[in-house]
Amino acid sequence: MSTFEIKVDNSKCTGCSLCINTCPINLEIEPQLKYGESPKTDKVIFRLINGKCRVLNPQLCENKQFKCNLCEVICTGKAITLIT
Ligand code: SF4
Ligand code: SF4
Repeated sequence: MSTFEIKVDNSKCTGCSLCINTCPINLEIEPQLKYGESPKTDKVIFRLINGKCRVLNPQLCENKQFKCNLCEVICTGKAITLIT
């Protein structure tokens, strides 16, 4: 059984949107994110809600397949932890 989880500590999230605008899966779903725009739907892995990052569709994350950990590394508040 998969234990994969994208944990976001909202007390540390600064709402910078970097994770949202650089995650390759988010960009595939909503290409306008690469221009710094906001998600238009809830189909993305994560988006800001009330100024904080909220994980909506962790199942879309390809961390296991591609060993991506971009969001965890790039997070300015060190708020993201990938649990694999
Ligand atoms: S690990 Fe990579 S694919 Fe998964 S949510 Fe983070 S940036 Fe996106
Ligand atoms: S990169 Fe980190 S601090 Fe910035 S929105 Fe994402 S979770 Fe929050």
